Amino acid sequence: MSKIIIANFKANGCKDFFNNWFSDFKNDSQNQILLAPPSVYLDFFSQKKLNFELCSQNVSEFEEGPFTSQHTASMLLDLGVKSCIIGHSESRKLLNEEDHQIFEKFQKLNNKKIRPIVCIGEPLEIRENNKVKDYIKKQTEKFHDFEEEIIFGYEPLWAIGTGKVPKLDEIEEAAKTIKEFCGENKKILYGGSINRSNCRDILKLKEIDGALVGGASLNPKEFAMIAQSC
Ligand code: PEP
Repeated sequence: MSKIIIANFKANGCKDFFNNWFSDFKNDSQNQILLAPPSVYLDFFSQKKLNFELCSQNVSEFEEGPFTSQHTASMLLDLGVKSCIIGHSESRKLLNEEDHQIFEKFQKLNNKKIRPIVCIGEPLEIRENNKVKDYIKKQTEKFHDFEEEIIFGYEPLWAIGTGKVPKLDEIEEAAKTIKEFCGENKKILYGGSINRSNCRDILKLKEIDGALVGGASLNPKEFAMIAQSC
């Protein structure tokens, strides 16, 4: 089955950078490739009519109105955006986003038929204290009764941008916990320091349906290796 591989460019790049990236990225895989540029470049990506799905890095929890600096689900739809990351740990931390706001975002996206990619993941002290299962259940409890498919990004905070990666059985266990709690039809992407060397083993895991790639996505050749490793 094809996997979902997302390039999260975060706050990196400019038009020249992305034009070079498009020329250097060669993909022969059947996997679904999603590109998540900074929001100011969504339209630039959209105009290129690329063969890849356009993904936003965030969305407003509000429909429209006096919310300076925000962009709404309708605006994303207008630009041809098909999916959207929500609850990324960097947005949770920098923008003080809480679970109830992330659930509002989820609903706004669903109303517009944009696929939400719901990011969750534990901080290091939770892992060290063997509390990962409880933490994951708490972070996903609002989605518990939602019967449709949901894509979750499992991104342990301590693995994002650090070069540290959980053991394979820890990734598998976290994915199983989400599926047991929220339903077997849920899809789980792994994110956190994934690169050309560790992607094959992670993407081979039965419970893992794809990857969220941050730092390594900035190198189009490395991102292509990851996309083609499964
Ligand atoms: C991310 O922030 O979604 C991510 C996975 O980052 P990195 O690959 O750089 O750890």
